[in-house]
Amino acid sequence: MCQPHVLVVTSCTGQKRFKSENQLTLEDFKDNARLPQREAELAEFACPANQMYTGQQHLRAMEGVGLLRQSLGREAVDVVILSAGYGLIPEDRTIVPYQVTFNRMKGDKVDEWAAVLGIHQAFERAIADYDLVFLLLGKNYLRSLSLPVEISSTHTLVFLASKTSAKYIRELAAKTLVFTLSNVEAKRYRYGLVGLKGFLFKRFAQWVSQETQLLQKVYQEPEVFRQVMEREPVQLELPLELPKIRYSVKSVNTRKKRLSEKTDFFPIPDLPQAPNWHLGMQYFIPEWDDRVDPGYNFQTDTFTAYRDAYLDDIYSHQIYNLPNYDGVLVSKVVVDKSKKKKEFIQRNGIHDFVRFSGKIMGDCGAFGYIKESEPPYTTDEILDYYEQLGFNYGVSIDHLIVGPFAQSGVKEKRYNLTLKNAEEFIQKHRAGNYHFTPIGVAQGWNPDSYSKAVKDIIGMGYDYVALGGLARTPSHKIIEILEAISPYLTPNTRMHLFGVGRINATPAFRHLGVTSFDSASALRSAWLDSAANYHTISGKQYAAVRIPPVERSGLRVKRVLEAGISDRETLKRLEENSLKAMREFDSGKLTLEETLDILLAYDELLELPRDGQVNPEAKARRLSKHEKMYRELLTDKPWKSCDCQICQDLGIDVVIFRGNDRNRRRGFHNTFVFYKRFKRLFKD
Ligand SMILES: [Zn+2]
Repeated sequence: MCQPHVLVVTSCTGQKRFKSENQLTLEDFKDNARLPQREAELAEFACPANQMYTGQQHLRAMEGVGLLRQSLGREAVDVVILSAGYGLIPEDRTIVPYQVTFNRMKGDKVDEWAAVLGIHQAFERAIADYDLVFLLLGKNYLRSLSLPVEISSTHTLVFLASKTSAKYIRELAAKTLVFTLSNVEAKRYRYGLVGLKGFLFKRFAQWVSQETQLLQKVYQEPEVFRQVMEREPVQLELPLELPKIRYSVKSVNTRKKRLSEKTDFFPIPDLPQAPNWHLGMQYFIPEWDDRVDPGYNFQTDTFTAYRDAYLDDIYSHQIYNLPNYDGVLVSKVVVDKSKKKKEFIQRNGIHDFVRFSGKIMGDCGAFGYIKESEPPYTTDEILDYYEQLGFNYGVSIDHLIVGPFAQSGVKEKRYNLTLKNAEEFIQKHRAGNYHFTPIGVAQGWNPDSYSKAVKDIIGMGYDYVALGGLARTPSHKIIEILEAISPYLTPNTRMHLFGVGRINATPAFRHLGVTSFDSASALRSAWLDSAANYHTISGKQYAAVRIPPVERSGLRVKRVLEAGISDRETLKRLEENSLKAMREFDSGKLTLEETLDILLAYDELLELPRDGQVNPEAKARRLSKHEKMYRELLTDKPWKSCDCQICQDLGIDVVIFRGNDRNRRRGFHNTFVFYKRFKRLFKD
């Protein structure tokens, strides 16, 4: 064995990338029927587990993993995360924000809940394939493993654990080192106890990247880890650039599951190009009232006088000369959202409402009725709905197979119902006088079931099929499904992927026969992401500068005022200074440092108090994070080099995080960038 196969087991952290108000709670995880519905509500915050957590321990640990992978290859290290909500999960598992931690549970509750999540068994299974396992777990997380587990003496385990939690590490046959941590170590390594485990792991990884045989030495003799911790830290710069984009190349050796779901390009699968390749690939944007006030005054922050938000506000495609998408997807649930809207659409048709002359696809929005035993619509009424409103494409009525609805007994029922509906849909479409193109949906739970469904749907006479239920499925799993489907595609078959817009997987998807997809994630990240708010053609993403309006007191300002941390007049003054500083910086009147000082003076007061108190550590962390993010943004000035209509018109206002009119316009810019990158993929 040249290099031991390494596993890192780390815990979830309270701090997460997204802080939605209605994040999942313990009650949600306990209720199998409710969980998928609640996850669906949070779908726009979904991301792989390794990117969800932003606590110090997680960030440092992942930096360490990054270093090991850089010097030893991606396959050298795997990561599993012990989540108090989801249980033991692989790092690429897609999850949504939740608020559950073992830290605040009583001991017996930890044992009880860990048993429900099956953590002990999952851990035993997880470590079996690895030679060397690093465990970075706090007290109750260690307890949740309920050690000992079955493990052979050919394994080596290295625990980084506090003094008080070491008692949970019991009778293991493997070679074991417990590196205990307390305030003494925190002081010695000059790093807070909270993130110390991650920090020390990263420090170890820095040494390994200088001296790769260290892993093998620790595997043979775990005490070596302690000796490495005695050494002075390596002076090493962390790469600050985003990972380089690798264009897809045929590669038989790449192990799919170890690619980073978000950044690395997936290799083109080793299968012949799908017979429908010549049909190209189209991007649809889901419609969700994404409009802005065309006459918004950014200097005075005022709306157009006497405006009717409903009639006067405009869509992105009314701003740009050409739309940044090939089509629009409108779900029936969105049409039915309000009476006024529904009536308007019924009177004027869907194209007039969306003010879009290109192709519009309609579907039923299956997430809206996921819990019902059957969809609440009949095929007849849906056919008439698509026809009367003037849709170009209409999707048959489907039923999702996810979460508890993927249990045996339920999944077969939904699968058959979806196919039966598709059959009825095309038969009635053929018999009636309809003008839109019918699309048959396939639902499934694995490559086999999806491919069988697609085969049946094509057999029914469809030349446009759609795959549902994959919005949160990792790309490598989708690729497996598409590989199973591809033999059934004909040169005329079009195939749509619902809710899956991932630049890095697009070449692989197209190779396997996907001809269209829809996604709003570029748009929404403008205001939902904690850092990646402004996207650029190179793939680099920037944070927008948070300058919340004091007048329209958002949650943050309100809490700060309630807690008496500052008063309204002071905040108002700092807010105005910040807006002014941004403009003066843009016109060259202020230097970067002067501008940052002014921005951070306001920003600093906005750390969210908990129970009326600001945690000084959290405040310092946020401040230093924001300083770094804003410095990068203001140094690079990416809005100056974007030639899109919005950046040209708004200038620096496009990177200010403040209100719908700036934030959604920034989302329009992101969509412009996404579409341009997507188009570029297939240029040569
Ligand atoms: Zn732009």
